[in-house]
Amino acid sequence: MVLGAGIAGLCSARALSGHFDRVTLVERDAFESAPAVRRGVPQGAHVHSLTAAGAEVLDGFFPGLVAELVRAGGTFAGALDELDIVFFGSRLRQVPIGRVLQTSRPFLEGQLRERVAALPNVSLRQGFEATAPIAAGPARAGGAGSSGVRVSGVRLSRAGVAGSSEDLAADLVLDAMGRAGRGAAWLRSLGYPAPAERRLRVDVGYASRRFQVPPGVLGAAKGVLVGATPARPRGLVLTQQENDAWVLSLYGFGLENHPPQTPEEFLAFAGAMLPAATRKALAVAEPLTGISAFKYPDCVRREYHRLRRVPEGLVSVGDAVCSLNPIYGAGMTVAALEARALARCLADGPEGLPRRFYREAARAVRLPWLFSTMADRAMPQVPGTHPALARLLGRAFGATMRAAAADDRVAISVWNAVSLSGSPAGLAHPRVTAAVIRHWS
Ligand SMILES: Cc1cc2nc3c(=O)[nH]c(=O)nc-3n(C[C@H](O)[C@H](O)[C@H](O)COP(=O)(O)OP(=O)(O)OC[C@H]3O[C@@H](n4cnc5c(N)ncnc54)[C@H](O)[C@@H]3O)c2cc1C
Repeated sequence: MVLGAGIAGLCSARALSGHFDRVTLVERDAFESAPAVRRGVPQGAHVHSLTAAGAEVLDGFFPGLVAELVRAGGTFAGALDELDIVFFGSRLRQVPIGRVLQTSRPFLEGQLRERVAALPNVSLRQGFEATAPIAAGPARAGGAGSSGVRVSGVRLSRAGVAGSSEDLAADLVLDAMGRAGRGAAWLRSLGYPAPAERRLRVDVGYASRRFQVPPGVLGAAKGVLVGATPARPRGLVLTQQENDAWVLSLYGFGLENHPPQTPEEFLAFAGAMLPAATRKALAVAEPLTGISAFKYPDCVRREYHRLRRVPEGLVSVGDAVCSLNPIYGAGMTVAALEARALARCLADGPEGLPRRFYREAARAVRLPWLFSTMADRAMPQVPGTHPALARLLGRAFGATMRAAAADDRVAISVWNAVSLSGSPAGLAHPRVTAAVIRHWS
């Protein structure tokens, strides 16, 4: 049973479908027939691009999916040659490398859901909320390892219907319920310790709006990414999505940098971050939506992999394990990589699955967590970092991006690290290090 039909839940349901007779996907929301932002995924109104590493996993689960998404209107843009990317104040060199799948989140999720629901052994129960785990076996039994309690199902209630309750049995329960982290509380209720949490307060505010823009009006680029800098802790992402729609997402660290929500102030916030011609074109473009806001208070990493005791039959995935600062656009890719890791773990049999999976998930999360929290700590608005360290990080990122603006090899290494493609070891190559030192100031 998979709880939550977000990206982690859908990918995990696909992974489980190859190893179990029946998979039940339980989702609190009820889905509309057309793609729409929904209550359980309010971030769906904001830019949601998928890196090539994530797209590759989806294609592995559903061969041909990415091509179908593009045929249906999505854009698979060349990362460095078709997007205009400015990180830490420097424009990355335009090299034909990397790709980014650009669609709205409701569109991507809807297409994925359709394919998951069409699998012969998967059924979707929408409008049901998971409220508690059902467990068999003595709580607190066993020492190190995962002996003791086995989760054998989940209590569901019909969303919004008081008093409705139903118990559903399952050999394995996946918590894909997102960053709220119900799975951690469930561990406590079963007599197990909850995972230690690492949190980094970033106080990022988003505001986004979608526009209809005829082809060519915004120039040749398929997107613009301007990252925040310590001196200007604001950024934006403008990307082409399905059906000639473009989304502009603005963000800022710290309340004073949260983007405004009135139409005039919204575009004015973009200021010099967007070329004047692009701002002008957006000012007369037809808005498809109002302006949606989202507050992202802190990044959270739950260290399930360090737990010495976990119950069998219950595994948390996706944002429930690690919620990364969304400005780096890695969350869906990590969720997809975890689902692939889950499939690998299942192929080795059910014994000790949770602990084996958490070790793999920790590998998928380690580098994106490290890179994103280091970049966050360079921002003076992010509390808890010694000012000298924050300045050093700011200078290091600044020098790396200046080098990436001048040198193809550095630009490629930076992109590989940011997009979780290949090995990040390229950043440590002597030629890359030498280029960064040359650009240090
Ligand atoms: C503003 C913003 C922008 C982002 N942009 C990007 C981006 O560009 N690229 C990228 O890769 N990632 C991006 N992300 C991250 C991305 O949204 C997540 O990392 C990704 O969706 C994985 O999340 P998930 O599936 O684990 O959880 P979610 O997407 O949060 O899904 C959880 C699901 O569980 C359901 N649910 C919750 N509780 C229950 C319950 N009790 N019973 C049943 N169902 C329940 C919810 O309704 C929901 O459907 C962004 C995030 C934010 C906030």
